[in-house]
Amino acid sequence: MSTPNLNTAEASVSRAFSLKDFLSSFMLVELFKGMKLTGKYAFRSKITLEYPEEKTPLSPRFRGLHALRRYENGEERCIACKLCEAVCPAMAITIESEVRADGSRRTSRYDIDLTKCIFCGFCEESCPVDSIVETNILEYHGEKRGDLYFTKDMLLAVGDRFEQQIAVDKAADAKYR
Ligand code: SF4
Ligand code: SF4
Repeated sequence: MSTPNLNTAEASVSRAFSLKDFLSSFMLVELFKGMKLTGKYAFRSKITLEYPEEKTPLSPRFRGLHALRRYENGEERCIACKLCEAVCPAMAITIESEVRADGSRRTSRYDIDLTKCIFCGFCEESCPVDSIVETNILEYHGEKRGDLYFTKDMLLAVGDRFEQQIAVDKAADAKYR
């Protein structure tokens, strides 16, 4: 018995909404709301940048492309302890090591598959000699899968090229480590 009453109430509410929508549409309410919002932000200072011509500042902790570093005398920092390989959650690092004639241990292979890497920074955190680092280089790409498979020579080349910036970033972050 109560069903017809409910239907009548629903119909009245529906008519009220329709009328409200019609008036709102007729008075261009939504248009004026949009123009008000546009006007509010039109003369404020811009927070967007014209990338790539303009760039945002990067933190010294930015985790971009990896690099292997050397000491000033040219010797590789990496001592092949494999801590970075063990800690990597993506299993992106592959290391093989050898003992040199002078008894020092060094890597004979150090590869990072950047298609697996999640840029967590654990490898950098775990390294006892600041050898593997993540630079602030973010503008790189690969056109096929193999292009993002970085070998030891490639990682050392990145380190050699950007050592100055890496050293500056490390020094800026040193007091927080
Ligand atoms: S940044 Fe993280 S995922 Fe990438 S190689 Fe280092 S430890 Fe592995
Ligand atoms: S990069 Fe650092 S953590 Fe990784 S094997 Fe070399 S010394 Fe060890």
